[in-house]
Amino acid sequence: MRYYNLKDPRLKVGFRDAVMRGISSDMGLFMPETIPVMEPQFFERLPELSLTEIAIEVGARYVGNDIPSAELERICVEAFDFPVVMREIDSRKQVLELFHGPTAAFKDFGARFMAGCFSYFASHDGMRTVVLVATSGDTGGAIASSFLGVEGVDVIILYPSGKVSTLQENQMATLGHNITAIEVEGTFDDCQGMVKDVLTTMETGNRIRLTSANSINIARLIPQSFYYHYAVGHAGCGKVISVPSGNFGNITAAAMAWRSGLDIDHLVAATNINKVVPEYLSSGVYAASVSLQTIASAMDVGNPGNFPRLTRLFEDDFRRITSGISGYWFDDTRIREHIRQEFRRTGYILDPHGAVASLGLERYLEEHPEKSGIFVETAHPGKFTGTVEPLIETNVEIPESLRGFLEGQKESVIMKSGSDQLADFLASRYSTG
Ligand SMILES: *Cc1c(COP(=O)(O)O)cnc(C)c1O
Repeated sequence: MRYYNLKDPRLKVGFRDAVMRGISSDMGLFMPETIPVMEPQFFERLPELSLTEIAIEVGARYVGNDIPSAELERICVEAFDFPVVMREIDSRKQVLELFHGPTAAFKDFGARFMAGCFSYFASHDGMRTVVLVATSGDTGGAIASSFLGVEGVDVIILYPSGKVSTLQENQMATLGHNITAIEVEGTFDDCQGMVKDVLTTMETGNRIRLTSANSINIARLIPQSFYYHYAVGHAGCGKVISVPSGNFGNITAAAMAWRSGLDIDHLVAATNINKVVPEYLSSGVYAASVSLQTIASAMDVGNPGNFPRLTRLFEDDFRRITSGISGYWFDDTRIREHIRQEFRRTGYILDPHGAVASLGLERYLEEHPEKSGIFVETAHPGKFTGTVEPLIETNVEIPESLRGFLEGQKESVIMKSGSDQLADFLASRYSTG
C-alpha cells in the first residue's frame, strides 16, 4: 500500500514512512492511495469475528509488506486486549462503547496500535525515536500509557501548564521511564507550535529520529476503522452511525470502513458549539474559527485537522459529502439536559461527548422515522464526574484503570513557551548540539 500527500499527490511513501514521519515536510497529511475493499466473505463472517481478528485482516491491507503478518498479529493482539461493547438503548438506538481501554477513552485504540507500529519500526533500524506530542489534555494520557516501556522510543509530551485536570496531568507526568512531561507556560496552541517548529527545522543527525504522534498520524486513524466493522457486524439494528467529532479523525475512520465495503447507511457528524463542519454541510462554506470551550472539551476544535481527509473520501464533491454525512451541533445546555433525560428515560449514563453523539443520532432519526442506528461513546462518564453527577443525582464509578492516577507525585519539566526552548532541551538531552 502506498500513501500520498494530500497537498501534493505526486509525493508517495510506503506505510513505514507515512507512520514514522507522521506528517510530510510541507505539513501535508498522508492518505492511503486506495481504500482496500474487503471481500464479500469477510462481511459474511463479520458477526463471528472479534475486534482483533478484524484488525489483523483489515490491518494487513493497509500495512502491506512493511510489517510481516506474524508481527502485525502480535501488534493487534497486544493493542486490543480490552473489550469493545455494544449495548441496546432502545429499539432504534444502540451505543458503541469505546472506553474500556486503559485510559477510558477511545484514543487508546489509535495510540496503542500506533505504539506497536513504532516499536516494530524502531527496533529494526537502530535509531532512537523521539516522539513529540502536544496535548490539551486527553491525547497525552493515551499516548503516554501506550508507549510506556516501548524499547527504542522516547515520548516527550507538551501540555499547557495549569490548563489540564489533575487526573490528566497525572496520566502524563507520573509514569517516568521513557515518558517525559513538559509543562509549557503558555497555551495549547503554543505547545503545538513548538512541536511543529522543532519537527520541521531541527537537525538531529542519523542516530535520533524526531517524529510526532498527533491525531494526524495515519497509524492512529487506521485502527479506528476496525471497531466500525465490529459494530456493524454485531449491530441488531440499523446502520446510521453518529460520531462525536472534534478533530474529525474518528468519523474519517468510519468513512474509511464504509469505503471498504461495510454496510453503513449514513454518517452523522455531531459537534458541540465548535460547529465549522455542521455549518459547512448546510451552507457549503468552510469557515475555520478559534476554538470555544465547552463541557465536551475533547471536541473543542475550531479547524479540524482531519477534515480534508474526510472530504477526500467523497472525492471532495459537496453533493456526495452531503448525501453521506449530516451534521448537527449542540450547546452545553442541550448536552446537560440530554444527559439528565437519558438517565431518567433509560438508566444509561452518558458522558458529555457521547451525549453529543446521542443527540445527533436522535435528530437524524426524527427526520428519518424508518431508520435506526448506533452512536459512539468515546469516554467513560467517570472521567467527567463533576459535570455528570449533579445532572443524574447519583455517583458515577471511576474506572478501575484510572483510580491509581487520582493521587501520585508528578514529575514534569517546566518550560517557557517558544520553539528555541524545546530545541535546546532536546539538544542537551540527546547531545545533538
Ligand atoms: C478526541 C475525542 C473526541 C473527538 O474525536 P476526533 O477524532 O478528534 O473527532 C471525542 N470524544 C473524546 C472523549 C475524545 O477524547
